[in-house]
Amino acid sequence: MSLSAAINELKGVGPQVASKLHKLGIFTLKDMIEHYPKEYEDRRQITPINECERDEPNSILATVVSSPTVTRKGNLIIVSFRVKDQSGGLYITFYGQAYMKNQFTLGETYLFYGTVKYKYGKIEMESPEYQRVTKGQTAQSVAKITPIYPSTAKLSQKVIRTLIANSLEKCEGDLRENLPNFILKQYGLISKKEALQNIHFPKDNQIFFEARKRLVFEELLMLQLSLYLLKSDFAKRTEGITHKKSEGLGEFIKALPFALTGAQKRVLKEILKDMESKWAMNRLVQGDVGSGKTVIAALALYLAVQGGYQGALMAPTEVLAIQHFMFLEKLMMPFGIQVGLLTGSTTKKQKELLLEKVKSSEIQILVGTHALIEDNVEIPQLGLVITDEQHRFGVRQRLKLSEKGQMPDVMVMTATPIPRTLALILYGDMDISIIDELPPGRQPIKTNAVDSAYHPRIYQFITRHIQEGRQCYVICPMVEESENSSDLRNVVDYTAYLKEQVFPQFQVAYLHGKMKPKEKNEIMARFSKGDIQILVSTTVVEVGVNVPNATIMLIENAERFGLAQLHQLRGRVGRGEHQSYCILVSDSKNKVTRKRLKIMEESTDGFVIAETDLKLRGPGEFFGTRQHGLPEMKIANLYTDAKILKEVQVCAARLREEDSLMGGATVQALVQEVKERIMEEELHHAL
Ligand code: ADP
Ligand code: MG
Repeated sequence: MSLSAAINELKGVGPQVASKLHKLGIFTLKDMIEHYPKEYEDRRQITPINECERDEPNSILATVVSSPTVTRKGNLIIVSFRVKDQSGGLYITFYGQAYMKNQFTLGETYLFYGTVKYKYGKIEMESPEYQRVTKGQTAQSVAKITPIYPSTAKLSQKVIRTLIANSLEKCEGDLRENLPNFILKQYGLISKKEALQNIHFPKDNQIFFEARKRLVFEELLMLQLSLYLLKSDFAKRTEGITHKKSEGLGEFIKALPFALTGAQKRVLKEILKDMESKWAMNRLVQGDVGSGKTVIAALALYLAVQGGYQGALMAPTEVLAIQHFMFLEKLMMPFGIQVGLLTGSTTKKQKELLLEKVKSSEIQILVGTHALIEDNVEIPQLGLVITDEQHRFGVRQRLKLSEKGQMPDVMVMTATPIPRTLALILYGDMDISIIDELPPGRQPIKTNAVDSAYHPRIYQFITRHIQEGRQCYVICPMVEESENSSDLRNVVDYTAYLKEQVFPQFQVAYLHGKMKPKEKNEIMARFSKGDIQILVSTTVVEVGVNVPNATIMLIENAERFGLAQLHQLRGRVGRGEHQSYCILVSDSKNKVTRKRLKIMEESTDGFVIAETDLKLRGPGEFFGTRQHGLPEMKIANLYTDAKILKEVQVCAARLREEDSLMGGATVQALVQEVKERIMEEELHHAL
């Protein structure tokens, strides 16, 4: 049979089983074979009955010594019989499976695998899996490492196992090798067929590891090659602009209101080296919230402008774009550099004037939102393109901005903690700089997770701090009250309440995504200036906002936010010299929620938080491949398979080089398969 045959062509798969398989995403024999086990049970270890661990699964080899009897407890049919080995005996019991009565023969020996329990004074093994051991067989030849599959409740492990064994057997002729021989040799990989057989039914541990390595390698290689194909237009090292060394940079740095941290200096050096080389820069700058990425952007922009080029800085929100604009304008003005701002709320008239000035190079630095990538924006001398909070943009949007220049240098900035392994895949074609140090004098933010009974105390706490001159953010999960969320705080009502009932003596205002950009900007500006003391908001303040005098972040219904969001939100405070606080309010009793909020209390390190979240919930929002636009992995684990991933990277790079972007013959077949595998639409859109 062919791998592409529909699953219901397999013997034993009727409409019912087929529909259950479909629910698991299994439609063809290939899907069936690629339904890999989630774990394995080693049943080769046979335990004497009197040494069986209670409440644990055990393998026993025992002989039936009493005929199965059927009893009833209410509606429940119970089949039970006694078995023995040399060390002792126990009862085998099946619940609700009357037919089991006829499955066992007095005097025959079976291998049983199941959980051993004490019940009503008897030792029993409940509904075990079993296999007869005939005279000629040894137990060892029957006992196996047994795969456990992801399943729906209605599909038993035994059925899945049988279907996979059948599929493997029927398709044996179609399990062709798809990796070139030289790769198999070089990386010590076993054949596809052997790998598939042993990932399901490994003969021993050694072959299991080899099978897994082979399949992980292949999956990651396919992924890497697909990304190469998709990104081929900018993946190559290309010649670009050679920015001139700037004598004035030292002076510019001296004029900054602070000294650069060691990490900032190091990253700056890396950037300057890129910019001054003849190659186009393609660099990711990763730094936790508050680590000071913006000033790095400013320095790079300054260098570009000194050499006669223009620079562009794109931010995901208008609030952030304005903030960057003001920051840059203040720094650049004394050096006679003109900065412009273009957002969705720039009026038509302002825009015409602005674009004219950009076109004539009178404005050298253009800051803005997505508005920057519109077609009518011409930046003739564009030499440097920077994207802030890059995860908010797609690859294509970033490319579009770059295309306004001739191979400008490219720098993207992100606060998302990206594990090295994932970065290798996502940004395999980028160089990475990490700002791993916060500016001096920052006191770690104190975080407390409490329930809503604490509100009176929280309000007192806020009052005290505002009286000392500080400011406060209050975050709610909703904008307005809606039918199915009446138990959640919403921005509009909560603001009214705080204003009238709690803080009549202070300026309280709100901000949310549904407001007009102009209103939003006004509120943000007033908060920045300190005219507003308490800003009630949705997560619109989540990215990048910088008001160092704000020291309290109060988050209502904290259980409604992901850890990544909470970490970003918390990053809005602790940006100045004053001790800052984050208060997470939640009445949720959910265990995982409590644990997650506890992580927030215990750590301020984005990486630690992300990793703990990963342990608690599996690859979630932080690391989730979906968020990064990658397809789900069938077998590879991007976090633990780092070693294999490294090999894959080397291998893929070599294929690309030798086959000049994979047009060559060696990997033609592979490329074809990759192309088929790329879920074109899905991946394209995600990127
Ligand atoms: P992020 O990396 O989150 O984008 P920002 O660039 O907004 O961080 O910087 C956070 C705050 O730290 C800003 O107020 C900025 O002016 C300040 N800052 C940046 N670098 C330094 C430094 N070396 N010393 C002191 N303050 C700094
Ligand atoms: Mg920032």
